[in-house]
Amino acid sequence: MAEVQSYRLFNVQLLHKSHVSPSLLSLVFGGPDVANMKCDSPDQRIKMLFPSEDGSIPSLPEHGQWYSLLQELPKEKRPIVRTYTLRHVDRERQQVTVEFVSHGTEGPASAWAISSQSGDKIQIVAPNADYPADSGGYEWTPPAGLRQGLIIADETAIPAARGILELLSKQQNPPEIQAFFEVPEQGDCVDLSEFCFAKIHWLPRKAVNARHGECLLKAVSECAKLPTAAGITETVNEEAEGELLWDKATTASNAFYGWVAAESSVVKMLRRYLIGECGVSHDAINFMAYWSKGRER
Ligand SMILES: Cc1cc2nc3c(=O)[nH]c(=O)nc-3n(C[C@H](O)[C@H](O)[C@H](O)COP(=O)(O)OP(=O)(O)OC[C@H]3O[C@@H](n4cnc5c(N)ncnc54)[C@H](O)[C@@H]3O)c2cc1C
Repeated sequence: MAEVQSYRLFNVQLLHKSHVSPSLLSLVFGGPDVANMKCDSPDQRIKMLFPSEDGSIPSLPEHGQWYSLLQELPKEKRPIVRTYTLRHVDRERQQVTVEFVSHGTEGPASAWAISSQSGDKIQIVAPNADYPADSGGYEWTPPAGLRQGLIIADETAIPAARGILELLSKQQNPPEIQAFFEVPEQGDCVDLSEFCFAKIHWLPRKAVNARHGECLLKAVSECAKLPTAAGITETVNEEAEGELLWDKATTASNAFYGWVAAESSVVKMLRRYLIGECGVSHDAINFMAYWSKGRER
């Protein structure tokens, strides 16, 4: 019998598309197999397979090693793969929601999301509900009884960050959260006042003509209240050229936990500031480069 895989391929088609805000599109996909998809965390990552260079619709076999099968195809026929966040899975209705930043048409994923129409077919590699253990593929693992949390995100990480706030709001005593969200436009600053345990700083950059990440760095350095134990600064090891930053927190302390996801150079600067200058323990904070300016992902 074939081994049950932690992640597997799902065939889906677009059911509907709407705007969460001017820069963020919500796409709802459906497919009978979604009944076997699972989502273990609000920052659950998935791979989305888009039409290949020659326009072929992704049609890898559902069972099997999708990546090896993809590598065997001639380059122009290989589906284009990008990483996204599983925003919502409704197994009963067999629907899955993913939110896309519409950053223009130079990136195939963004271009596809902008031009896609109901009925368009793609494939998604997502956690398999038949897998008996944890499928992994997420970093949000705060300690039980967390008291203070810090969430920093640019627009690509807003879907995961909102999911985190939604999850925390279900707790009887949610932790005190400071959130810094940088987005392109004023209209992207959606109302999150229902999360009364969170102090949310919306930072629309076009309004102040700022470069990507500039508003985040300024606001975090001016407003973030960091744990009182912080103060012992650490040397921050920089990645080798071309490597993307991905540091997972390992802490067991419930005093403080951080989650930072944004463009690569911005995450690096935030890590230098928080760990190298403010002395936040690297054990207590996740740093994740969700994309890299000027580079395909
Ligand atoms: C774990 C994880 C979860 C993610 N979740 C989401 C999600 O839920 N929603 C989402 O929209 N993105 C998400 N991303 C980011 C997404 O994978 C990248 O933005 C990806 O590069 C988009 O692919 P593309 O084909 O549009 O552009 P690419 O072909 O990868 O890049 C083409 C060009 O566009 C630039 N570019 C890429 N993304 C952006 C952007 N957002 N703004 C401006 N320029 C950009 C690149 O630097 C490059 O120059 C996630 C990434 C990771 C690692």
